[in-house]
Amino acid sequence: MPMPTPKSSQKENPPPQGSHRQRLAAKRQKRVIPNKFAGLIALLILAIGLVNFASVSALQAFAFNAEQSAVGQTEAGFAGRVDDPYPLPEIVITPTPEPAAAAPAVEPAPVVAEEPVADAEPVVAPVETGPLAGQPIQHVVIISVDGMRPDAMELAVTPNIDKLMAIGAYSRSAQTVCNSITLVSHASMLSGVLPEKHGIEWGVPYIGWPGMSSPTLFNIAHEAGLSTGMAFGKDKLNYLVFNNSVDHLFGQDAHDPEVRDHALEIIEEGLPNVLFVHLPDNDRVGHAYGWMSENQLYAIQYADGIIGEIVTALEENGYLDTTLIIITADHGGHGFGHGDDAPEDRTIPWLATGPGVRQGVILSSPISTMDTAATTLFALGLQIPDYWVGKPVLEIFE
Ligand SMILES: [Zn+2]
Repeated sequence: MPMPTPKSSQKENPPPQGSHRQRLAAKRQKRVIPNKFAGLIALLILAIGLVNFASVSALQAFAFNAEQSAVGQTEAGFAGRVDDPYPLPEIVITPTPEPAAAAPAVEPAPVVAEEPVADAEPVVAPVETGPLAGQPIQHVVIISVDGMRPDAMELAVTPNIDKLMAIGAYSRSAQTVCNSITLVSHASMLSGVLPEKHGIEWGVPYIGWPGMSSPTLFNIAHEAGLSTGMAFGKDKLNYLVFNNSVDHLFGQDAHDPEVRDHALEIIEEGLPNVLFVHLPDNDRVGHAYGWMSENQLYAIQYADGIIGEIVTALEENGYLDTTLIIITADHGGHGFGHGDDAPEDRTIPWLATGPGVRQGVILSSPISTMDTAATTLFALGLQIPDYWVGKPVLEIFE
C-alpha cells in the first residue's frame, strides 16, 4: 500500500525545475525569507523608538520635577507623570474597613516572650560557625515598614512592636535623608552614606543616572564571608542590590503578605547573618488614603502582625538569642505624599532589640537612617568604612 505523501511536503519546496509558473513560485518563496527579516528589523526599530520615547519622557519628568518645589517630589507624583516603570498591583483596601477585615491573615498572636530575650530558651539551637562563631550577635534583621511615621506607629494597634519596645531601645525622632523617598532613603539606610555619595538622589532612573555607586552593608558583610538575604516589595529596590552581595533575594512589586512569606522562608531555610525585610503597603495606603488616616493605621497594624510572625519564626528556629532586630522606616509622610524636608516626612521610628541591647529605653542621641547600616556592621564585628556618615548607635548597648 503506497504511503500518502505528507501534506507539508506537497506545499513546501516545489521542484524548481518544473514549469515556468513553478519556478516563479519557488523564486517568490525564496524572497519571503528576507522579507521576514525586514519585518523583524522594522519591529526592532519600532521597539527602540518606543524605549527612547520612554527615556525622554522620564528625563522630561525628571527635569520637570527638578523645577518643582519639593512638595511635588512624591513617588505618587512621579508615577502620575512618567510612564510608570514599576506598575503596582491595585491596593484592595475598603475605605472604611472593619478592624477584623483589615487584618485578616495576620492574627497577630503575641509572640515576644515577656521575659528578657537573654533568658528565653531557644527551641532549636543552630550551631553557629564561620566568622561570627562565639559572638553574641550573629544575625541582624532589619525590618523597614515603608512610610511609617513614629506617631502613626504609636497610634496604631501594634502589640508586637509594643512588646519589642518593652525589651528594646527606641527612638521616635530618628531622621531619614532628603529626598525622603523610598529608593533614596533605603539606599542611605543600607549603605551608610548620604545620597550625593551613593548616587541615588531621585526616586526613578533617568538618562545619565549613575545608579548605586557606593557599596551597601550587604557587599561588606558578604565580602567578609557572611550570608545575606533581602525580601522587599518594591521592584525599584533592586537598584540597591549589587551582584554577588545577596545570597537569598526576593525583590519585586508585591504586597506585605507575599514579602512576609519569602522572609519566613528565608528564616526557615537558615537565617542569614544579615536579613533585610521591607513591607511596602503602608506607604501605598498613605498615598491612596492619606498619612495618619484610619486606613494607614490599619496598614501599620497589619505590618505589626507580620513583625510578630517574623519574631515568632526567629524564636521557633532558635535565632532570637543571637539576633539584633532593627525596626525602622524609610520615611514618613503627610497629606497624600512625602519627599520634602518636612519633619513629618523626615522623622522615622528606630527600634532595636537583641542580645546586649538595653531594655525599655528611649534613646536620646540623634539617630540617622544611615546609622542602621553602621549599627549592623558594628553588631557583627565588621569594620565600618571611614567615609561612612552613619555611626553605630552605641547608646542601645548595655
Ligand atoms: Zn517609601
